[in-house]
Amino acid sequence: MEFRYHCLWCPPSELVLHPVFIGADRAYPVRCAQGHQAVLLLGNAPYSLLFERGLSRLVAGDTRDAVLDAYTSFEMFCAEYPIRLRHAAAPAALATIRHDFREVTKTSDRALAVAYASYGMITHRAVRSLPKLTEIRNRATHGGVRPSYEEALKLCRWVSSELEALNEAISPLQHGAYLAAERLDRLAECSERFGAAPVVEQSFNSVLDAYGWLPGLTGVFGRTSIDDQLEALKRGPVESFWVQPVMPIKIMAVEKSL
Ligand SMILES: [Zn+2]
Repeated sequence: MEFRYHCLWCPPSELVLHPVFIGADRAYPVRCAQGHQAVLLLGNAPYSLLFERGLSRLVAGDTRDAVLDAYTSFEMFCAEYPIRLRHAAAPAALATIRHDFREVTKTSDRALAVAYASYGMITHRAVRSLPKLTEIRNRATHGGVRPSYEEALKLCRWVSSELEALNEAISPLQHGAYLAAERLDRLAECSERFGAAPVVEQSFNSVLDAYGWLPGLTGVFGRTSIDDQLEALKRGPVESFWVQPVMPIKIMAVEKSL
């Protein structure tokens, strides 16, 4: 989907938005018309980027891929859920925790079971039951059946509401430490992939992040519902001005070509 950003090094008086096409990756090398280079690092979690891409495909009428993206986003979230809980219980390097949990998050069925059982244990509520919406996804995936717009939207809403409920259960837990660890991981990943390139960080109005994974995002963008987000996507590319540098600005010292 198309995202537009304002180059941090061009004068604000000459505000020009530059396009960058984003998918489920979090880091994108960018270059403005004046030749300023940077790595645009999105603060959003990969599952929320994928969900947003699903919504963007829904708006474009590509209902089959919309369903696949939204459901995959749900599976990715389920695999991340126990890792976040484990980190809240006893902080450790995320890579180590992910390694420890690799067996139970290896397949989507296992990850889903662990996520829902964890939900039951921390909330002391009955484990949530899964509606039959996975059939829509299975028909699209295995049968090649193109879902209707209404079916695709229904599945997107379901994913969104499930994630909202699962998130709500862990929101009382101290998760600032998790977010900080996750951010450090992202920066290390950027440094590994793009070398000394300056990094600018950005979040855009992802519906799923607005449910609580990025505190403050809702206040910035004021959009929390799928309906608002679909309306925004129909209007055109997501625009943003909220960019901040997270590494020393050394434009002239970019050694690696982007
Ligand atoms: Zn520039």
